[in-house]
Amino acid sequence: MKDFNYFNTLLVQNVGSKTGAISPAIIPSAAYGYEDSQEAEGIFSGDVNKPLYARVGNPTNTKLESVVAKMEGGIGALATASGMGALAMICTAFLRAGDEILCIGGFFGGTYTLVNETLKRFGISNTFCGVDDFEHIETKLRTGVKLVMMESVGNPSLRLPDMKRITDLCNRYETILVVDNTATPLLVQPLEIGADIVVHSSTKNMSGHSGALGGIAVFRAVKEENDKLLTPKYEDIHKFVHKMGEKAFVPICKKRAIRDMGMTANAFGSYLTLLGLETLSLRVERVNKSVAKVAKILDEKLPSTITVNHPSLPKSEDYARYQLDYAEGCGPLLTLDCGTKERAFALLDRLKLVILTANIGDNRTLALHMGSTIYRDFDEETRLFLGVTQGLIRVSVGLEDPQVIAEDFLQAAREL
Ligand SMILES: *Cc1c(COP(=O)(O)O)cnc(C)c1O
Repeated sequence: MKDFNYFNTLLVQNVGSKTGAISPAIIPSAAYGYEDSQEAEGIFSGDVNKPLYARVGNPTNTKLESVVAKMEGGIGALATASGMGALAMICTAFLRAGDEILCIGGFFGGTYTLVNETLKRFGISNTFCGVDDFEHIETKLRTGVKLVMMESVGNPSLRLPDMKRITDLCNRYETILVVDNTATPLLVQPLEIGADIVVHSSTKNMSGHSGALGGIAVFRAVKEENDKLLTPKYEDIHKFVHKMGEKAFVPICKKRAIRDMGMTANAFGSYLTLLGLETLSLRVERVNKSVAKVAKILDEKLPSTITVNHPSLPKSEDYARYQLDYAEGCGPLLTLDCGTKERAFALLDRLKLVILTANIGDNRTLALHMGSTIYRDFDEETRLFLGVTQGLIRVSVGLEDPQVIAEDFLQAAREL
């Protein structure tokens, strides 16, 4: 396991330059002039590596992509306009009408509606199953689903998947596995475990400052001889593997999604994300220590009518997995179940320090009632599958003094 010191060094050394301008350049140009017709041909064929037109990339995005690819241990990456843009790009690039997605665990609201509403409208079906339902997972893989999606930590269920076991199954059945690692950058490295694609909403932890909406997908190297992409199931992308070899994931996504749909990142947003990345390791280390401290204090001191959920608490069903596979933490979230919507509202409205908003992974501590906001349009059965109970509050712990964060919830609860 790489430690926070390793990532501190990697990130500051790669984001900044050693000579000339230290801070990365913001290059917002939409168009790029070519030297001559031959160079234009080379750029369009992919043989010359220079900017073509900003819908398919710009130099600031390229810088961000190279840093995040190193951070995740991937061979390449593509920055997108938002986290949903990254997920939409992957689905568009690899799926077509008649295909099926296997979704493991509870999903972030936008991802849930992407697969369950939007992709369904385009003839792509889905199955959801629990994180530990290995029998169901294997049965589905055997019948030939095209893509498997899961989150490194269920949001807001906070269930922790057995990433190694699920990854091994996807590799055995030669199926592409996409892991949404938004909550756990640096804490989990899905590509090193054997996943194919890692997705982040860089809006969250990577930036930390709430200053830039963005997303990014990172890809593993393709094995030119016997890659799973070369099985008949993925026939329509074989030509990219034959032409581009180990970097094939990048042109697959560019030509089959970004070029025609334009979910590209912009240079200003990518610059702000790069600034966030410089301090990511420091922030992740700090926040993950704090969230365990805050969970412990609240679990001990809140009245018994409010249940605290975090995998670091010994009562949690994922406590063993937390200690084994998430030794440095599982991200900034914890949840409080207040029993009813009214009690949840009353608690939230008495908070003095904590900000009420739909974001997570911010430098400031945030909280929100789930059922009345992000999950308001979901039916009761789906909400329960996603872990959204009536009185559920999601808290995203920030950089403030953990004692002060805990005290804000305690004072709010005292007045209930
Ligand atoms: C926020 C979030 C997304 C979507 O990202 P946006 O940048 O808001 O589009 C996807 N997955 C998870 C886990 C998220 O928290």
